[in-house]
Amino acid sequence: MSESANHETIDEQIIDALVKVRGRAYVPYSDHPVGALLISESGQQFVGANVEVAHYKGLCAEASAIAAMISAGERQLREVYVIGPGEHLCTPCGDCRQRLREFATPDTIIRVVDAQGQLLKRYSMDQLLPDSFGPENLGRGSAMHQG
Ligand SMILES: [Zn+2]
Repeated sequence: MSESANHETIDEQIIDALVKVRGRAYVPYSDHPVGALLISESGQQFVGANVEVAHYKGLCAEASAIAAMISAGERQLREVYVIGPGEHLCTPCGDCRQRLREFATPDTIIRVVDAQGQLLKRYSMDQLLPDSFGPENLGRGSAMHQG
């Protein structure tokens, strides 16, 4: 796979799912809908939208999708897609980078697409969160640092 992202095309089914889940976002305060789609190690897809609440401690789309993946019994991320409402790079926030890292492997790819689903940028987990703190720092096994 190429490091220069722009000539990589995203699967139509994935774009459709991203646009659909972004459309379900509950964002009355920010008006900034975001959708996330995760592909787990088994190849299953999980989607999530951001969910705001009146006290402003809302849930990000990535966190929402991770919750769906964990609830279904999956533990490892193969691919991550994030779609925002505009042409700007809607990258995962700091909190979500740490959440994704918990379930990422060295091969996990994170792709951020524009509002139409065109690829803007792709990252490895290490690029998205360099020198990260993870389960192995607490003496736990982690898919990021095997062997
Ligand atoms: Zn976030």
